[in-house]
Amino acid sequence: MNLKRPPHIPLAQLPTPLQPLLRVSAHLGGPRIWVKRDDLTGSVLTGNKIRKLEYLLADAKEQGADVLITSGGVQSNHARATALIAAQAGLRSHLILRGKAPAEADANLLLDRLAGASLSFYPAHEYQARLPALFAEWQQRFEEQGLKPYAIPTGGSNAVGLWGYFDAVGELAGQFSTLGIEPNYVVCATGSGGTQAGLTLGFALQRPSVRVLGFAVCDSAEYFAEKVRADIDAWAARYAEPEIAAAVDTVDTCDDYIGPGYGKADPEIFETIAWVARTEGLVLDPVYTGKAFHGMIQEIRKGRFADTEDIVFIHTGGVFGLFPYRDQFHW
Ligand SMILES: *Cc1c(COP(=O)(O)O)cnc(C)c1O
Repeated sequence: MNLKRPPHIPLAQLPTPLQPLLRVSAHLGGPRIWVKRDDLTGSVLTGNKIRKLEYLLADAKEQGADVLITSGGVQSNHARATALIAAQAGLRSHLILRGKAPAEADANLLLDRLAGASLSFYPAHEYQARLPALFAEWQQRFEEQGLKPYAIPTGGSNAVGLWGYFDAVGELAGQFSTLGIEPNYVVCATGSGGTQAGLTLGFALQRPSVRVLGFAVCDSAEYFAEKVRADIDAWAARYAEPEIAAAVDTVDTCDDYIGPGYGKADPEIFETIAWVARTEGLVLDPVYTGKAFHGMIQEIRKGRFADTEDIVFIHTGGVFGLFPYRDQFHW
C-alpha cells in the first residue's frame, strides 16, 4: 500500500491495553468481550478524540495556525480534548458550543475553562442551522486580529482525523496476535463517525475478517453510512488512490439504541452503567459508551455475534460526561 502519511504529534498514551471482561461475558453466555481501553489514552485527555487530534494538531501546526476552532455540545469530550491540547501546544482555542451556558461550569466544561478556551454558546436551532456560518464568522474574527485559525470539524471527523483510528487498527491487530485471539467483530459508539471510519477502513485494508459495527448515539444508520463513506473517500483521495475506498464493502451501523436522542438516555442505560461498574470496575458514560455497550449486550442476547468467540468493544472514554447525570442514578 502506497500511502502518503501526514505528520503526527504523539499526544496519547499508547498502546492502550486490551482487557477481557470475564464476569460480564460469563453472565451473558455469549462471546468473550474484550475492552480496548482508549479511556486510558490520558487522564484529562481520556478518550478517542486524542488519537484524531494527534494528526489534526500536526496539520494545524504545519499550516502555521495559532488558534484551534472546533464545535460540539456543551459537554463535548472532543471540545475538551481540543482545548487541552491547544494549551499544551501553546495555541489558543475557541469552542463553538451547542446549548445554553450553564450557571456552573461542570465536568468537561470546567476543563474547557481551565484550559483557557474561549467559548461561545448557541441555542440548538441556531447551531444546527448555521454551524458552517458560525465557523466562518469566528475564523474571520480571529483573522481580523492577525491570528491564523485552524478549523476542526465536530468530533475531529474528517480525512485528517481518520488516521487516528486507522493507526489503532495496527495496534489492535498486534494485540490480537499477542493474545492469540481472532475476533470477528469490533464495536464502538458512533457520534460523528470518525472512529468508525478509521476502524472500518483500517480493518478492510489490513485485516478484512474483522467486521466493524458502530452503535449510533444520535443520527440514523443511513446518515452514518453516508458520513463514514464520505470521510473514507476524502481520505483515499488525499492520502492513497480513490480506488482504495472500494475495499470497504459495507459500513455497518446499528441505530436501535439511540433512545430519546443525543445526550438523553433511558433508565436501562444507567442500570447497565452501574452494573458494569460494580461487576468489572469499568466506568462507562450515558452519552456514548453506555449506549453502545448496552446495545452490544442486547445484540449478544439476540445472537447477532454467535459466529465469533471474541468481540472487541472500543472504550472511547467520556468519563467526565457521567458527572452531569448524577441525578439519574438511584441507590
Ligand atoms: C466522540 C465520542 C465518541 C464517538 O466517536 P466519533 O468518532 O465522534 O463517532 C464515542 N465515545 C466518546 C466518549 C466520545 O467522546
